Parts: sequence; C-alpha cells; structure tokens
Amino acid sequence: MTSRSPSTDRRDGAADVAIVGAGAAGLHVALEAAEAGGRVVVISRKPLNETASFHAQGGLAAAVAADDSPSRHAEDTFNAGRGICCPAAVEVLVAEAPAAVEALMRRGVRFDLGADGELALGLEGGHSARRIVHAGGAETGRALTSRLAALVAEHELIEVREGASALALWSDGERCHGVVTDEGPVAAAATVLATGGGAALWERTTNPRGAIGAGAVLAAAAGAELADLELCQFHPTALALPGTGFDGKLITEAVRGEGALLVGADGRRFTDELAPRDQVTAAILDRIAADGAGAVGLDLRPVPLERFPAIAALLSAAGIEPAAGPVPIAPAAHYLIGGVRTDLDGRSTLAGLLAVGEASCTGLHGANRLASNSLSECFVFGTRAAAAALGAAAADPAPPDPDPDPRFPAPTEETRHSVWTLAGPVRDPERLERLRADPYPLARLIAASALAREESRGVHRRSDRPLIDPALDLRHTVVGVGGEVRIDRWPPVGAAARV
Ligand SMILES: Cc1cc2nc3c(=O)[nH]c(=O)nc-3n(C[C@H](O)[C@H](O)[C@H](O)COP(=O)(O)OP(=O)(O)OC[C@H]3O[C@@H](n4cnc5c(N)ncnc54)[C@H](O)[C@@H]3O)c2cc1C
Repeated sequence: MTSRSPSTDRRDGAADVAIVGAGAAGLHVALEAAEAGGRVVVISRKPLNETASFHAQGGLAAAVAADDSPSRHAEDTFNAGRGICCPAAVEVLVAEAPAAVEALMRRGVRFDLGADGELALGLEGGHSARRIVHAGGAETGRALTSRLAALVAEHELIEVREGASALALWSDGERCHGVVTDEGPVAAAATVLATGGGAALWERTTNPRGAIGAGAVLAAAAGAELADLELCQFHPTALALPGTGFDGKLITEAVRGEGALLVGADGRRFTDELAPRDQVTAAILDRIAADGAGAVGLDLRPVPLERFPAIAALLSAAGIEPAAGPVPIAPAAHYLIGGVRTDLDGRSTLAGLLAVGEASCTGLHGANRLASNSLSECFVFGTRAAAAALGAAAADPAPPDPDPDPRFPAPTEETRHSVWTLAGPVRDPERLERLRADPYPLARLIAASALAREESRGVHRRSDRPLIDPALDLRHTVVGVGGEVRIDRWPPVGAAARV
C-alpha cells in the first residue's frame, strides 16, 4: 500500500478518523468509516504479514448454521469466560457476527464452502456447534487481510501511512486530538487504536514480535483507563522445538476439531481435547509436570492434513513427519484479553479516543476467550466503533501543541523473558512483585493487575490462590488514570463513553 494522492492528504488539516494499526480491526474500521464518507488516515508500523490477523488460522465464530443460534453461541462464550464476561458485550457479538460474515462476503472475501455450496463450518474447543467460518483451510487471516487491504488501498478517502509508527497520542489528558508519529503529528476528530494485542511480551508466544501492547501503553500515557491486563490466554498447542525458529508456532485448534489427540509420555490421552482453552492448557501443564517433560504430544494421524495445507507445510519446514508419531507441543502466550477499556462502541474513557480488536477490552471474553471469537470481535465492534468515531465532536481547531519529542519505550528481550518467567501460565505473588520493577510500563501493569486478582480463574492461575473466588464474579481489574489498579464491577453500557 502507498500513500494516497495529495488531494486526500490531510497533513495540513484534521482527518475525521485516524486509525493506528492495519490488522483486521484497523482495515475494517477504515473501510466502514470511509464508506460512510469519513476522511480516514491509517497509520501502520509494519507490513500486513506482521499482524496477528494475517496469521489467524482457524477462522471467525458466527452462529450461521441451521442447527445453531446466537443464544447457543452466547452460552458457549459465557461458559468459556468463567463468570466475568460482560453480558452486554456477549449479546452484541453473537447477535451481530452472522451479519459481519455476510458483509465480508459482500466485500469479496472467499470463505471455504462445502459440497452443498454452503459455508463449510469448523469446530473448535468450547463450541457446542460447528460455527467457525474459514478460508483456505487454515489461512483465514491471510485471505481476510489481503482482501481488506486491497480495498483500503483503492479507497479515495483513505490515506495509508505504511511504515509510520505511533509514538504517542496527541492528548491534553482531557481529550485526544490525534496521534504523534515518527513522521509527525496527525490531527483527527477521533483516533482509533487498532494496534493488536500484547502476547509477544511473553517470550514463548504464537504472536508476531510487534504484538507488544502498544495501544495500552499509548492510551495509559494519554490518560485512558485499561482493564483485565492479568488475563493473557495461553494457547494449548504451540510447537515445542526450543532453540529453533519454529518454537511457539501455532497448531490450530481446528485440527482437534477434526480428531487430533493429546497424549502424554505414556502415549495415552489425558484430557478432553475440545474443552475450553484454559482447561486444556491447565491439563497440559499438569501432564508436563507429572511427566517431567518439556512437552506433550499432539497426534495428528487421525486428521486429514490435506485440509490444513498451512499446518502440513509448517511441519514439513520444521522437519517433522506427523505420520511418524505425535508432534511435541506446549502452551504459549497467544491472546491478551485485557487492553484499553471501552464501551460497546469502542469508546475509551478519554474523549476522542477509541479502541477496537485485540487492543480493546469490552469484557467480551471474560477470563478465557472462546476460540475464534476475536476475529468476529474485530468486525462486529469495528463497525460500531467506526460509527461512533464519525459521530465524535469535530476536531478542536486549536488543539494544544503535540509533544515535540515523544518516545515510545520498546520492550527489551530481558522484559520478554521476565514476563514469561514471572507472569507465565502459573503465577505467584513473589515473582509478580519482581515484575513490578520492569522498565516496560505494560509489564509493570500486568504484574499489578495479576497481584490484584487474588484467585485462579480462567487463564489466570495463581499457585497461592488455586480456586475461583465467587466474590469476584463479574469483577474486572481496571488500571485508573494514575496507574492504580482497582477491582470494578463492569459499568452499565455507555457509562464509560465521553467521545
Ligand atoms: C497465530 C495466530 C492465530 C490466530 N488464529 C485466530 C483464529 O483462527 N481466529 C480468531 O478469532 N483469532 C485468531 N487469532 C487472534 C486474532 O488473530 C487477533 O486477535 C486479531 O487478528 C487481532 O487483530 P487486530 O486488528 O486487533 O490486531 P493485529 O492484527 O495484530 O494488527 C495490529 C496492527 O497494529 C500495528 N501497530 C501496532 N503498534 C503500532 C504503532 N505503535 N504504530 C503503528 N502501527 C502499530 C501493527 O503493525 C498492525 O498493523 C490468532 C492469533 C495468532 C497470533
């Protein structure tokens, strides 16, 4: 993608919407806003194949089958979320996901079809019905992002600044006026953070290295609240090949939906492969500890791998022959549930600032994201955020001067190592306290939030508090503007809105 022509270059004036990030969420918000007549600037630090969206394998969840329903999808989402899903966010997702799939098809995304010409639907852990819409077998992210990026590049109301990095938000603490990049400030009536998640802060991760929670760092520095930072989902089945470039690469859950089995050192099954992710991850960690091994096996022999060409190619490149025996796997950080606290239209607690996709936290995923709800989230909440962004008050004609020398504090390798060892799949207060001294601000906030949630729930396991505390049902950790962590009951819809 290249910059648009000078006629639409808004360097000298405010855009209607500035979007930071060009993954599924950012591209979708850009198209929705531009199609409604808004002038949009998209700032994207990296090329498309470095987004998490590009790497998405399984697909997106939507109750489109004749034997399925939004209420069943909601029930599965609540079950997976372990008692702290925000009910209003779940209702929005399940009700609007089928229309989001249709809208993507209208935009020319080609999802896989069955022999009957209907959408071919996959099954993943925690889902009680086949409802995963996918493309290219396990290449859904590539298909989605390539098509949306092509449409964004063509749209005359969208200017893309590929290669530009957001270093700070243009904020006076009361309102966001745009974003400050390494190529200069971009003024906008509304600014949307679509910067993705932070799971690459954990050394062992399925995510591209750029997933460092930039949106949360930028938003907190600008005066917006964050939420649920202690909740990072560890995917159960990432390749365990330490010391190679393949360590941490994801083996999609969809293969378990097609019969792949988890086996311990004795070659026997030890858990329900299609239970929600937190449960499967916990069972694998317990088995690894009991076996005194670094991994368990994923037996792919029952799976027709020709339906998963990307997985077959990955294994072949890693020198693994799946027909010869189980593939070594272990959990890796996969999805940061926490992020910039938003209402159901993506509005943060700072006027003029919105967040969408993995950068945001609506409370939808509770304490454990249901597989494939996150891509659906990008589109469902992206549509709502685009409308809210266009409804924002006009840009301030005389905003205060932006920070002339903004500096984004990138995480070091040492930070990534510390986050994995001190705030990994099983936590304790002593190690979390040590993480509070880390130089990267988000690492400190993750530690403070994990200390504040004094229980084990969903993806958050504390060795000193092994049980759920029912008093924390429907309670979320919120990082306030001063950086203090409080436990909050999720507010009524719209209470956080100040755009
Ligand atoms: C291997 C893998 C497989 C997955 N499979 C699935 C799946 O099958 N189904 C599902 O629902 N979910 C899946 N997920 C999760 C899902 O892909 C993500 O949650 C979702 O794609 C996030 O989209 P996003 O647009 O919010 O962020 P991303 O796609 O990560 O995009 C973030 C964008 O922000 C940009 N950016 C970040 N910081 C800055 C900055 N400071 N300045 C400028 N630009 C910046 C990045 O360059 C990028 O363009 C998977 C994740 C991974 C890693």
